[in-house]
Amino acid sequence: MADKSICHENKTKGILLGTAVADSIGLPMEGISPKRIKKLNWINEKSPLTHHFLLGRGMWSDDTEHTIMLSQALLASHGNLNKFQRSFAWELKWWLLALPAGVGLATARAIIKLWLGYSIKHSGVFSAGNGTAMRAAIIAAYFPDHPKKRQSFTIAQSTLTHTDPKATIGALSVTELSALLIKSKTPPSTQQIIHLLSNITNIIDNQIHGSKSAKQDWKSITNLIQKSWNSNHTETQFLTELNQITGGSTKRGVTGYIYQSLPIAIYSGTKHNWEYKTVITNVISLGGDTDTVAAIAGAMCGAYGGHKSIPHQWLSKVTEWPCSINDLEKLATAISEKKQLRVRPRFSPQLIIRNIIFLAVVITHGFARLIPR
Ligand SMILES: [Mg+2]
Repeated sequence: MADKSICHENKTKGILLGTAVADSIGLPMEGISPKRIKKLNWINEKSPLTHHFLLGRGMWSDDTEHTIMLSQALLASHGNLNKFQRSFAWELKWWLLALPAGVGLATARAIIKLWLGYSIKHSGVFSAGNGTAMRAAIIAAYFPDHPKKRQSFTIAQSTLTHTDPKATIGALSVTELSALLIKSKTPPSTQQIIHLLSNITNIIDNQIHGSKSAKQDWKSITNLIQKSWNSNHTETQFLTELNQITGGSTKRGVTGYIYQSLPIAIYSGTKHNWEYKTVITNVISLGGDTDTVAAIAGAMCGAYGGHKSIPHQWLSKVTEWPCSINDLEKLATAISEKKQLRVRPRFSPQLIIRNIIFLAVVITHGFARLIPR
């Protein structure tokens, strides 16, 4: 029994730290094309990818902040779905007031609706952005043995901000796949993963009304993952074919559309046996929404390999305040033991100071990108 709990705690740490580290590593390349990333020469065989946010150090963005807030809402809920949804709504409302630099459009609109008095049942907006998948993996660590609870909590946090069934299919895929990876001692086979992904639309049939096109496109995507795996395609080849289903351009990189971001994270993870460093480096090199695609992939790789699979060089250079990597480790232990804990205040002057520093660095990166290379 003791061994199982140590293993689960390490895997829970893997999800939280895996999200934070990948988010921080990917952030400086957000919105850049793969061609420009090549020119920057930050990813090459001689010197591996490292932090480039500020003087060789990294900070995390909304992907990790949401994961922390969702974790705290889970712990406060004691398994009560309504309490969880209300608690997470309050976390989001106060989060927006601390002026975060990066907010997804759908998330911002949903939070404003919450402040305007819309109920948690009517705050979501029709969007298929990747905002609900980026924060969902930790639900798998809280409910590793209760699929029904895992699924209803995943749907509740997803529809709070995004109502397009595609966003829910994406978030459910993240939690279900993470639950499988938490339990796996060897990498799950492609057949297992395809089977799991194909079943996701059956879950939403029972709980929410899925649109026909959301299901059809999801089926095409799972078929493409299988086909590309059989042909041993690279991530770039996979993205080129994925664009034929979802629209988008391989030259511009992976978009924030959930049916783009998530399949890339899953394909790369499956292709490289969820090996953290390889998967994160490969998905970032595709460009586009690098921090979120990396955060989703990082959570799943961490769910498989645990926190020790994350390169120490990457982990040790994440510099955050007032909520640190150390706090994330404590949060993971609390989730594993189902003990209540808050490591991040809902609102504090420190959070505003932190967000102003963060914004200043993001603006500096924006100006640096204007310099022709
Ligand atoms: Mg982000």
